[in-house]
Amino acid sequence: MKRRDKVGQTTRDLDARCYMPAFSRSIEIVQGSGARVRDADGKEYIDCVAGIAVCSTGHCHPAVVQAICAQSRRLIHCSNLYYVPHQAELAEKLVGITGMAKAFFVNSGAEANEAAIKLARVRTGRKKFVAFTHAFHGRTGGSLAVTHKPGIREPFEPLEPKCTFVEYGDLEGLKAAVDADTAGIFVEAILGESGVIMPPEGFLPGIREICDDSGALMIVDEVQTGMGRTGRWLAIQHHGVQPDIVTLAKGIASGFPMGALLAREGLEFSKGEHGSTFAGGPLACAAARATIGVIEEILPDVPRKGERFKRGLAAHNPRACGLMIGMTVGERCSEIQQTCAENGVLVNCAADGNLRLVPPLIISDDEIDTAIEVINAAIG
Ligand SMILES: *Cc1c(COP(=O)(O)O)cnc(C)c1O
Repeated sequence: MKRRDKVGQTTRDLDARCYMPAFSRSIEIVQGSGARVRDADGKEYIDCVAGIAVCSTGHCHPAVVQAICAQSRRLIHCSNLYYVPHQAELAEKLVGITGMAKAFFVNSGAEANEAAIKLARVRTGRKKFVAFTHAFHGRTGGSLAVTHKPGIREPFEPLEPKCTFVEYGDLEGLKAAVDADTAGIFVEAILGESGVIMPPEGFLPGIREICDDSGALMIVDEVQTGMGRTGRWLAIQHHGVQPDIVTLAKGIASGFPMGALLAREGLEFSKGEHGSTFAGGPLACAAARATIGVIEEILPDVPRKGERFKRGLAAHNPRACGLMIGMTVGERCSEIQQTCAENGVLVNCAADGNLRLVPPLIISDDEIDTAIEVINAAIG
């Protein structure tokens, strides 16, 4: 008991004194394996947050650990002035699973969307973007400009590029908002940060049509929904729609920082148009290759696991696509999140009273059942 208080207190004090208070947190996670994590007190949790849809292969998957360790003994960094180990092989793999033509690597989701903004502008010669209400695309300048939530965007205005926001699902509004200077339309295939909100029937194919008619590029942000989260490599693949650009990050490398931009034939950066010192480095690419190898094995089982969650939580009208699950629980959301944590299950309160579950794709049936029990009890 004493030790626990001391350890917890020390980190909390240091954090309060030396770290910018941009986050609110209380749990100190120090170790993880599979779908479980341990805090500094030794308390174990079933992790239905997975680093926000990042640790899809579970925590410290042996194949990912092995890939990072092996590569770190050979070469940690060399820059994109040279061919980078694993980079071309990873690009080939991603092109294959997404059905796109070429890849470009970055370090995060926001950077992937920044790259998409640059690519859309430079290839269309147009300046403006359209995005949707409740959408989240990142917190850097450009990605924040296309992020709707006024509370996080407005303090930093004016932002570039110019962006018009249309209600998520409103195709008529979208038609009216797109003009001859619209370079691209940013859309999440499922709204993630807003709490797992599904696209209305026909919405995503409708965007494709509007893009075809207007010459604006369809940019699908799969940072959260991609890499097997929904039971397919991309959530857009449930809709039979071929985007012009896809952005990926979160689950791509099991927690090693990485993002990717994928684009269809004819859409690519020419020499000098984009670059990054760290992006697509040997460790990130090794981790991503290993991650994809693991997901290939478990992907067929993801829809069944999602259904198991959905059945177990049926009393609360869950929305689920694979292992991306949301429930509107209202004002008690943070209280429910806290009760679940006390009872050994990590869940996350997303926007607007929406509880979000994005567990590791390797989560077992027993762990799912335990999580369901704890969550149901917490909601009451
Ligand atoms: C998390 C997220 C981002 C931002 O990714 P970062 O790696 O935090 O920059 C962008 N788009 C979506 C849909 C996300 O969920």
